Amino acid sequence: MSKTVEDLVVLGSGPAGYTAAIYAARAGLNPLVVAGAIDAGGALMTTTDVENFPGFPEGVQGPDLMAKMQAQAEKFGARVEFDDASAVDFSGETFKITLYDRVVEAKSVIISTGSAYRHMNVPGEDLLSGRGVSYCATCDGFFFKGKELAVVGGGDSAMEEALFLTRFAAKVTIVHRRDELRASKVMADRAMANDKIEFAWDSVVTEVLGKDGVEGLALKNTKTGEVSELPVQGVFVAIGHDPRSDLFKGQLDLTPGGYIVVDEPGTLTSRPGIFAAGDVVDDTYRQAITAAGTGCRAALDAQRYLEGLE
Ligand code: NAP
Repeated sequence: MSKTVEDLVVLGSGPAGYTAAIYAARAGLNPLVVAGAIDAGGALMTTTDVENFPGFPEGVQGPDLMAKMQAQAEKFGARVEFDDASAVDFSGETFKITLYDRVVEAKSVIISTGSAYRHMNVPGEDLLSGRGVSYCATCDGFFFKGKELAVVGGGDSAMEEALFLTRFAAKVTIVHRRDELRASKVMADRAMANDKIEFAWDSVVTEVLGKDGVEGLALKNTKTGEVSELPVQGVFVAIGHDPRSDLFKGQLDLTPGGYIVVDEPGTLTSRPGIFAAGDVVDDTYRQAITAAGTGCRAALDAQRYLEGLE
């Protein structure tokens, strides 16, 4: 049941959002979680094995972990709505959030909208998106059985994507702009040890080639300037993420990179009553467990704020 004025609305349903909802619900705040219409659950929904979330020594599938967090939040009274906020107005005494079919008013808000896949912004990328260009191996890898593929990036995501793709692909070439990986040692070692994975070091993609589907990548060597073509039928872009904060531009202070500025180690944004947690704030750690930790802090901060209003 919706209330006239909500005590707390949580925007986003990744580890930060659901942890905030669990704490807030247990504090009796009956939070409304605006979970997202198509991407509820956040980044872990497109992850396979999560091996570093405490409490799961055998690992846990990302979607399973998120389903458990949702169930835990709902058990204590959080209301989860699979909708997107299309606009917000934080200028008044109560905060207005526009959903698909109504405007919700709230005394406090926790923003945990996470981050979105970064694009290479090269010719051919958008044109061939969904036709060989992908940002999610677990979503699309199955369609590339027996093909030769490229993964762009040198972080943990790129290693994870490449390793997952070796289940289907004949060969995977990791294209990285430096000669040293950013990925953790364990992930880098796994990728290096895999017979199906090769590396194109010191290379940037200058164009995705192909008309109706991906036929190759135009590469440029960052040290020698040499250009070459890598014939592949698919490319998975894993070059990091950008914060999903567009909705809050002009209403909250953001860093030049678009992250929401909070009063560290607290979670208060530049507007009293609005708190932020998870990847939309954090450009450093970006782990499920750190997002969950800040979600907890945001709920405690919101609870104290609401007590102060009484
Ligand atoms: P990341 O660590 O920021 O790595 C991004 C990679 O893409 C870097 O190698 C970067 O190159 C490269 N890159 C960035 N912009 C580029 C561009 N425009 N063109 C070409 N290359 C570009 O991002 P991530 O791999 O998505 O990981 C994010 C966080 O999630 C990390 O903290 C990671 O540990 C975590 N994560 C963990 C796991 C796991 O533990 N299993 C799995 C996935 C992600 P440079 O190295 O030159 O900067």
